[in-house]
Amino acid sequence: MITDFSCQQRDLDIFYNELNSFLPSKIIDGHVHLWNKKSINIPRSEYEIHKRYKPWTDFDLFEEFTIEDYYRCANALLPGKDFIGTFFGLPFEQIDRGVSNQYILEQSKNECFGFYYMPGQFENAYETEQKLALSKINGFLGLKPYPDLAKVEGRDVGLYDMLNRSFLEYAHEFGLHIMLHIPGKMRLKDERLKTELIETVRKYKNATFIMAHAGRSFCFYDINGSIDFLINEENVLFDTALLNDPLVLEYLFKSVDSTKILFGTDAPLSFTKGKDVCINNKHYYVADKVVPWGIGPIDENLLDLTYYLYEEIRSIIYAVKAAYPNNQDKSLENIFYNNSKNIYLQHGLI
Ligand SMILES: [Zn+2]
Repeated sequence: MITDFSCQQRDLDIFYNELNSFLPSKIIDGHVHLWNKKSINIPRSEYEIHKRYKPWTDFDLFEEFTIEDYYRCANALLPGKDFIGTFFGLPFEQIDRGVSNQYILEQSKNECFGFYYMPGQFENAYETEQKLALSKINGFLGLKPYPDLAKVEGRDVGLYDMLNRSFLEYAHEFGLHIMLHIPGKMRLKDERLKTELIETVRKYKNATFIMAHAGRSFCFYDINGSIDFLINEENVLFDTALLNDPLVLEYLFKSVDSTKILFGTDAPLSFTKGKDVCINNKHYYVADKVVPWGIGPIDENLLDLTYYLYEEIRSIIYAVKAAYPNNQDKSLENIFYNNSKNIYLQHGLI
C-alpha cells in the first residue's frame, strides 16, 4: 500500500467541483503497476540506496501495491465511478520479473481485468507460451516490455533489446497489444529508434502498439514534432499515463482522433500527491514532502498539493476542450472508457 494514503475532504472537493461531471460513469484505467512484497529482490537495508533514483523504486513509499490496494485508492479518489484497472508488474531490476508477472497471472484467475505480460530480453515467446499458455488466459491483452529490463553495453537500449523478434512474431500471430515505454535519452527524437519503430509497426501489422505516456512525452518539448511520424499508422495508439501537462495533451489530442487515446493513471504514483513540472525542457516530480527523487518542500505547509490523478484528469479536460470543442462528451467517453473497452472486446474479455 502507499504509505500515508488518505483522501481528504479538500481533495474530494476537487473531484466533485471540477472533475466528476466530465467523467463518464464507467472508466477503464489502461496503465497500472501491481506487485507484491515477494517480488522485491533487494534487502530492506538497501531501500535507502534505490529510492534515490526514482519514485518507482522507493519501497519505503510503496513496498507493494496489490490489486486490493489499487481498488481501495481508486474508489476513494473517484467515488461513484465504475472503475476497472488494466494491470502489469513493476519493470525494474530491483523487482524479480518472474514473481511480478506471476502475481498478475494469479490475480487474473479470481477477477476479470485486462493485463500485460513483461517479457525478458532473451526470453523466447513461444517457450513461454508453451509453459504459461498466456494466450488462453482470460484477460491477456499483450506485452509490456520495458527498457530497464534489458542491458546493453555502450549505447542506449533499442527497441529490439527490450522486445525481441520472437515476441514481435508472437504478438503479430496472436493479435496482441504492446504497451511500449520508449527507451533512450532522445526518446522519439532519436533517428535510430524512429527507424526501428516504423519498421516494426509496419512489419508486425496484427499487433497494436500503444505509446505509453504518449511516447514518454512529459514536457511539451518531448512531444512537439516527435509523434508526427506515427499518427497515421493504423496500429498505433497513445496512452496518457501520468501526463499532466495540459500543453502535452493538447498537442496529442490535436494530432490524433480521440479513438486513438487511452486513459491510464500510472498508479500507484498517480495516487500520491504531486505534479510534474517542466523546467528547461526536463520534467521533475514535485511531491508534498522532501523526497530523494524529486522536489519537495522542507516546510510542508508551504504547498497545498492534490493527487497526480486529479492533475491528470484536469489536464485531459483542458485538452479535450481545446482539441475537440464540438465533440467533448464523446471524446471524453472514448478516452476514459470506449477505447479500452474495444481492446477488451478484441481479446474476448467483456
Ligand atoms: Zn507505468
